Amino acid sequence: MGIPWGMFLYAYTPTTDEAVLVEQIHQKIDELAVQDGDSIELLYEQIIAIRDAKLLIDNYPEWKLFILNDLQQYLFENYIDVDQWMDLTSDGSLHKFISKGVWFENQYYIPADLVMLFPTPSLSLAVSNELSYMMISERALPWLQELATAFESKFEYPMLINSAWRSFEFQRDEFTQECRDSWLCAEAGFSEHQGGLSVDINGMFGDPYAWMAENAHRYGFHQSYQNGSEIDGYGVERWHWRFLGVEFATELHEAWITFTQYIRFQETWSYNPETQEEVNWL
Ligand SMILES: [Zn+2]
Repeated sequence: MGIPWGMFLYAYTPTTDEAVLVEQIHQKIDELAVQDGDSIELLYEQIIAIRDAKLLIDNYPEWKLFILNDLQQYLFENYIDVDQWMDLTSDGSLHKFISKGVWFENQYYIPADLVMLFPTPSLSLAVSNELSYMMISERALPWLQELATAFESKFEYPMLINSAWRSFEFQRDEFTQECRDSWLCAEAGFSEHQGGLSVDINGMFGDPYAWMAENAHRYGFHQSYQNGSEIDGYGVERWHWRFLGVEFATELHEAWITFTQYIRFQETWSYNPETQEEVNWL
């Protein structure tokens, strides 16, 4: 077991040397951000190349998460500019936050604006899934189609959607029959899929994944689970993309954080995977 959960935000006080280093890293971010405001990944690559930071990470690998988290919190506090009053709690909200330990107000919630996800030249649907579940929120559909069109023009094959909206009952059956690993699969009532704004996409490896990571936000999509269960509540899921709207997805992309980190950095929600306790409910 590495660093205990909670250390990042609440418990850890750096030594003087560490505090100096962290301060230097923050100054570097400010300098670099002025020169290249839209590439946080590049900033991060440059920052970890700073000799002392690299040394620290190499000598104390258990610190890597701390440093990453510190960087991301700094970026969040200084470079993210999202409406703090957006609605994170109403079941039908575009920004409804759902995760392990945070469920729908109505556990049987069904989006009112579901539409069929018909195959198009750029978009194909996995035949293994019930077609009746190939539905998505009308708010996300045109953006998904644009994303798929851009994807196909890049890779010359259609984007394959494996799963979209899932009802409470579908998720319950899938969880009990297909996947009982609660770090990889959501229990019924806790799945982003139930909100009608998430899709699973096949083939998210290599170049197609790299392209998505760089471009999906331009179409409003965000990879919900990027950092592992200690940070995001679930293991890394390269296939799972959530529609959040272009503005918010872009802010998250540029601050190099996930939706879950956004929530955590506001300190309105945290989840302890060791004890499975939820703290500070939304
Ligand atoms: Zn998914």
